[in-house]
Amino acid sequence: MSQNLQSVRGMNDILPAEAEFWELFEEAVSDRLKSYGYKPIRMPIVEPTPLFKRAIGEVTDIVEKEMYSFEDSLNGEQLTLRPEGTAGCVRAVIQHGLANQVAQRLYYMGPMFRHERPQKGRYRQFHQIGVEAFGFAGPDVDAEQILMIARLWGDLGLDDIRLQLNSLGQPEERARHRADLIAYLEGFQEILDEEAKRRLYTNPLRILDTKNPALQDMCAGAPKLIDYLGEASLAHFNGVQQILKDAGIPFEINPRLVRGLDYYNLTVFEWVTDKLGAQGTVCAGGRYDGLVQQLGGKATPACGFAMGVERLIALIRDSGGEPAPKGTDVYVVHQGETAARLAFRVAEGLRDNGIDVILHCGGGSFKSQMKKADASGALFAVVIGDDEAAAGEVQLKALRDEGVAQQRLKAENLAEVIIDQLLDTQEEEA
Ligand code: ATP
Ligand code: MG
Repeated sequence: MSQNLQSVRGMNDILPAEAEFWELFEEAVSDRLKSYGYKPIRMPIVEPTPLFKRAIGEVTDIVEKEMYSFEDSLNGEQLTLRPEGTAGCVRAVIQHGLANQVAQRLYYMGPMFRHERPQKGRYRQFHQIGVEAFGFAGPDVDAEQILMIARLWGDLGLDDIRLQLNSLGQPEERARHRADLIAYLEGFQEILDEEAKRRLYTNPLRILDTKNPALQDMCAGAPKLIDYLGEASLAHFNGVQQILKDAGIPFEINPRLVRGLDYYNLTVFEWVTDKLGAQGTVCAGGRYDGLVQQLGGKATPACGFAMGVERLIALIRDSGGEPAPKGTDVYVVHQGETAARLAFRVAEGLRDNGIDVILHCGGGSFKSQMKKADASGALFAVVIGDDEAAAGEVQLKALRDEGVAQQRLKAENLAEVIIDQLLDTQEEEA
């Protein structure tokens, strides 16, 4: 009967100490995105399976082997837990005609699901913050997104994240490159691994994205897509680079950067760190001008990226940038019936004044309550016994400052005294 119930492998609980930091992180990121005019959007976590097949591409890691797909047992509909956010965001934009009148800058955050082998930095439920811009055709918005990300790294106290850039050109340019690439790869039949053989005629560009070290030399000598780009694609790519140079954002052009999803064209980029081992990409994205139309909307240029929250949080933690969680202001300790009633009044009165309060619940001796007050990280304990309660008074005890004597005061003066002392501490800290 009693079976050990555990979370699903690769899907993690984020416990309070960590979740508090996640909230600070999410707030810092959304503040920065909003400062560039991005607006929040929230999409469902479950979408119809065909959406992902059509958007991401049938011959990709995600669609071939990583999706959590199932049949709705009530109506037989094929459904999938979203493996990424762009497809659903584009679906929502089309469904509600969002980008028909004015260009849109959107962002969202939340869990994504991929059936991968769990390891450091790679989970089956992981979290992304996604950013998408719809209706901008020029290189300005690509570059602006990159500048925004660079500024965000600054906000988060992160350095040492390198920017890699490439251009995938347009579909016609890729088609010509593809033909030459297949011819080149055919010359290496004897060393191609199973996956590469399978992709040789379906998605040869993806072979260049392989993680197999035995294929690295072959990939290095392969025809480069950049050499197949026409004038317009090159102008777009140069446009992005010019803005980055003007802004002093260093970057490296990586001709083998192809991304794991089919919908990209022109600009693609990844931000990579050496500090997280093999899972070093913390942010990745690019342009996907064809996707809106491909999914049934009217042709709309688009550009976006996604950040891996777990990897960024790990990076901030490793660099010692994790802020200490803020304790509460006041912990109210009380004993006896009259004291309990006054305690409720006092706690609510403090809250009316914007003070954070934990009211002790569950009884117990003064001693054990004081231990809990201490452990809560509170700056003050308010202590109320029946003796104090009978006089409408409370004891105020500073928990973090030994130099301050305990004082007995009228309950109605408490908020004012605490606010004064909180202001004093803030001034000392400043
Ligand atoms: P990778 O090459 O690491 O598999 P990807 O190309 O599949 O990455 P994207 O689909 O571009 O990743 O997702 C954007 C970001 O989301 C990644 O750069 C990474 O930070 C994060 N991410 C992707 N998959 C996972 C995962 N399984 N667990 C944790 N984070 C992930
Ligand atoms: Mg992947």
